[in-house]
Amino acid sequence: MAAVQSVEKPTMECETQHFLMAQRQLDEIALEMGLDPELHERLRYPKRALIVTIPVRMDNGTVRSFTGYRVQHDVTLGPAKGGIRFHPEVNLGEVSALAMLMTWKCALMGLPYGGAKGGIRCEPWKLSTGEQERLTRRYTSEIINLLGPDKDIPAPDMYTNEQTMAWIMDTYSINVGHTVPSVVTGKPVSIGGSLGRTEATGRGVAYCVRRAITHIGLNSDSPTASVQGFGNVGSVAARLLHEAGFKVVAVSDVHGGVYNANGLDIPRLQAYVSEMGRVEGFAQSEPVTNQQLLELPCDVLVPAALANQIHLGNAHNLKCKIVVEGANGPTSPEADQHLHEKGILVVPDILANAGGVTVSYFEWVQGLMHLFWSEAEVNDRLEQIMGRSCDQVFEMSARTGLRPRMSALRIAVSRLAEAKRLRGLYP
Ligand code: NAD
Repeated sequence: MAAVQSVEKPTMECETQHFLMAQRQLDEIALEMGLDPELHERLRYPKRALIVTIPVRMDNGTVRSFTGYRVQHDVTLGPAKGGIRFHPEVNLGEVSALAMLMTWKCALMGLPYGGAKGGIRCEPWKLSTGEQERLTRRYTSEIINLLGPDKDIPAPDMYTNEQTMAWIMDTYSINVGHTVPSVVTGKPVSIGGSLGRTEATGRGVAYCVRRAITHIGLNSDSPTASVQGFGNVGSVAARLLHEAGFKVVAVSDVHGGVYNANGLDIPRLQAYVSEMGRVEGFAQSEPVTNQQLLELPCDVLVPAALANQIHLGNAHNLKCKIVVEGANGPTSPEADQHLHEKGILVVPDILANAGGVTVSYFEWVQGLMHLFWSEAEVNDRLEQIMGRSCDQVFEMSARTGLRPRMSALRIAVSRLAEAKRLRGLYP
């Protein structure tokens, strides 16, 4: 393949380590699939990036300015879609990298969206509810020209939630003069949110686990699973696997983990965590560290906490048959390659944790139609889309010999490339 023509290569402030890593992944698959260099170049940078200063009246009467971002990586397939995070480490590079991943994730799942991400540099845990509301509303008004149900649809991410989405929806609606629920997803059900949205990511993970088990032909009445992280994603995945007859032998949270070779009683563990705020100390279990949990013998390992948990330092110790990535980026690229060579199936994050954006899409569709589905209908449709996407990735892997992560990326990039080719270049 010819080298990418970068005569007037944009030099952008988004080129942080994080962004360059996401870009390298695209470069790798572009080379592998012989992507048209001109299309490749168009996908290497965000389409739009807006940086805003957000002045906020604090509770003590002073005014503090925060920096906010909204990046749209690509909008070829439809409006931009992606979360908004509040975190002190948010920067243009991180937001741009995550926007690019959203483009791939939506294209892979066959959702009619482009990819976006947004964020505000702040320490949300130090802000009162009132300060968070004023920050959210002023940020919304600063980026309002980018937003809209046909343009860009935010969702919750780190340290933002359904209340944040309700404030964004309200601010946008007040500014345009009428109520527009479909400008955000992940909002409360009482103002147009979807049933099943809160559990969707964990549910999608559980669907992927079952599909992966069938794919590798694992023959067991009661497969075993370990789950790192017992938050929104991990606890739902653990509960659904338990209900499906799995022995969930270990789970953990930030304080540490618990293990029982015969399987943990997950509903009782959930009740315990609601009371105690941690899994540690649960009856009929032995303590394990987060590091030990990753290396326990089990059929399926679900990292559902943080990035960079599986790396070259521990990948050779993994004793599972399947890794299903509930978290974003839990496996380093080198470890991913190592696990592939070892014969461990890794279901990549852009597939495994796409249940959330898929049900966000359902929420948007329901809002536009003003017709709401039952939870069973939402879950059925989610299962269909997750199943179809898993099959496509496994089939691509079998056909090309690529690892599932690169197969997923190849499917996504092919769809984008095809759409860009058909739409042509304006003017
Ligand atoms: P959460 O905050 O609800 O839960 C995170 C869990 O991880 C908690 O149990 C926490 O105690 C644990 N944890 C934190 N630090 C840890 C550490 N050092 N070691 C072990 N455990 C630790 O978050 P969540 O919504 O469940 O998200 C988990 C992961 O899934 C994140 O990587 C997130 O980006 C990703 N994700 C979430 C969604 C979603 O819809 N919630 C969608 C896509 C991806």
